[in-house]
Amino acid sequence: MRVYSIPMRTRFRGVTRREGVLIEGPAGWGEFSPFAEYGPAECARWLAAAREAAWDGWPAPVRDRVPVNVTIPAVDPDRAFAMTKESGCRTAKVKVAERGQSDADDLARVEAVRDAIGPDGRVRVDANGAWDVDHAARMIRSLDRWELEYAEQPCATLEELALVRRRVDVPIAADESIRRAEDPLRVRAVEAADVAVLKVQPLGGVAAALRVAEACGLPVVVSSAVETSVGLAAGVALAAALPELRYACGLGTLSLLDGDVVHDSLVPVSGEIPVRRPVVDVEALRRWEVPGDSGWRDRLLAAQERLGGPPVIEAGP
Ligand SMILES: [Mg+2]
Repeated sequence: MRVYSIPMRTRFRGVTRREGVLIEGPAGWGEFSPFAEYGPAECARWLAAAREAAWDGWPAPVRDRVPVNVTIPAVDPDRAFAMTKESGCRTAKVKVAERGQSDADDLARVEAVRDAIGPDGRVRVDANGAWDVDHAARMIRSLDRWELEYAEQPCATLEELALVRRRVDVPIAADESIRRAEDPLRVRAVEAADVAVLKVQPLGGVAAALRVAEACGLPVVVSSAVETSVGLAAGVALAAALPELRYACGLGTLSLLDGDVVHDSLVPVSGEIPVRRPVVDVEALRRWEVPGDSGWRDRLLAAQERLGGPPVIEAGP
């Protein structure tokens, strides 16, 4: 078990360093990197994903490349235009409804991104649950003059998503509403979304996420939890194994970190990530390794106790 801590290039979820554990097993390396606020029950699923990666391996891929989106943060229109152009991606996800910004700022940013990506590119927006139902319906209709692919998590709750979905023609995607395996089934039951955003670690691994995708019956967008290339490889494996992949995935996130633990990082080339599994580079890992375990050993052991099954690390002294 090796603990890493890598600075974030931009603050994310209030986090300035991304931390986690890498474990090596017979099938390769796995990543266990739940966010600091998660307790043992939630962490158990993240550990199941790491154990699967290190001991069991992943289902066979049905494609060899995964298209990804560029994410445009709440920047001014000129910067948004340049970021979209530079990315080489054919799909852009634009952050909207950011605190301290106006509707006019969001409209200008989406317009700039549509200009940059051209009529054949795809533009989606992500409000991270920040709008109420009326505001969401009004803004989605307004933003759709630049043809939205979908609107991600316009409001916080499933019930609100369902209401917005009935009031607009743009498809709705659920992201924050899906954190546990049973969530996509609820999304479907209340008809809250047209697209499900799935992440491997919170759902307990690639095989578990594939089952969730099948059970919920919605098209899936695979997204990362801002991991190193070890964790991203599991997301790529899920995207590669899905029977159908209609949308670009949110796996082009390595650039948010200031470093990586492999030397051939999983970064997009012309908007696509090749399906492969990079090997941990011990030199690179050493650079980000933390002396001691900063409490990670206890977190992992607590998660392991919840998870049951074969131990990932020994509980001894
Ligand atoms: Mg999102």
